[in-house]
Amino acid sequence: MYACPLCNGLKSINLNCPNCQQVMDNQGRTVDFMGDYIPYLEYEGTKLIDGELNSTQDHTCLHLFYCTSCNQQLNVPIQEIR
Ligand SMILES: [Zn+2]
Ligand SMILES: [Zn+2]
Repeated sequence: MYACPLCNGLKSINLNCPNCQQVMDNQGRTVDFMGDYIPYLEYEGTKLIDGELNSTQDHTCLHLFYCTSCNQQLNVPIQEIR
């Protein structure tokens, strides 16, 4: 059984906005905002480099982060833990 540490309040992460370096707010799971439909991903990490969403297969939980300074939104896959 895997669980997302952010969803379960086990830890929080500080993510800096790629635009203005402000600390971004964790808005919760991306699916809670968009339902089943996720139009596009802005995360520029290695995991989603080919635009694939593998949140179930590789045990990551996609979270939406929001920058209140410049209105930047970022989808970040959080590694789930046992
Ligand atoms: Zn989560
Ligand atoms: Zn920003």
